[in-house]
Amino acid sequence: RSSAVPVLEVRDVTVRFAGLTALDAVGFTVRPGTVHAVIGPNGAGKSTCFNVLSGVYRATSGSVRFGEHELTGLPPHKIAGLGIARIFQNLALPPRATVEDSLLLGRHRLTRTGFLAAGLRLPSAAREEARHRERVREIAAFVGLEKQLAQPAGALPYGQQKLAELARALCMEPQLLLLDEPVAGMTADERRRTAAVIAGVRDSLGISIVLVEHDMGVVMRLADSVTVLDFGRRIADGAPGDVQNDPAVVRAYLGE
Ligand code: ADP
Ligand code: MG
Repeated sequence: RSSAVPVLEVRDVTVRFAGLTALDAVGFTVRPGTVHAVIGPNGAGKSTCFNVLSGVYRATSGSVRFGEHELTGLPPHKIAGLGIARIFQNLALPPRATVEDSLLLGRHRLTRTGFLAAGLRLPSAAREEARHRERVREIAAFVGLEKQLAQPAGALPYGQQKLAELARALCMEPQLLLLDEPVAGMTADERRRTAAVIAGVRDSLGISIVLVEHDMGVVMRLADSVTVLDFGRRIADGAPGDVQNDPAVVRAYLGE
């Protein structure tokens, strides 16, 4: 896990809103196949950071490199197309669609033959569809939802809906996953299960992850490295154990 070339390199990113600096020259790097956590008190700039990484906000200055791609200025769909998938803090799956259909939609970016061939019922389109369905079943099994494929997503317990969203993101075959508070609102049991799935995404699938999370237990268990933000500034960066004991971090969390 100490490979040389970072998958993501955030350099001196500043985001200003009228009269407020939400991010102030923030930088961090994510090594391939690792979980990098971005933590900090409310209003620290975590969501702003995600919005810059996914192209929802444009940085006032600074740069974000993803492999050989410069992301600064790219719209969200271009960034997603390069292989960065994001899971939002709130539920986003269409509640009435089955889990299987939602996951198939998640593979849309990867569809080669396209709607014309599918509409004409060409054999190539049928073969491709069968491949996608097979992959959807594999991914559902990976997150533990293979038995829920035929159910409407909205009928599942909250924890399983979040796992279905994770599965949909995995259906894009991303290189980098942005997780915004993935265990918020979950029971202790659901938290454990979700954390185990996230660890599997890193360890078995080799996908790199940027994790914003309030649950320190989950951060300490999952993160390989941590950046701590406070009032838009980076106040600490390093291994989870070191960061946790950093006096500046303790002060920020105690609200001094
Ligand atoms: P966090 O996710 O760490 O709680 P945010 O990134 O949401 O923090 O917010 C950081 C700061 O930027 C806050 O003071 C917030 O009010 C402000 N902010 C975030 N988005 C906007 C926006 N679109 N317009 C104005 N201010 C914003
Ligand atoms: Mg936030």
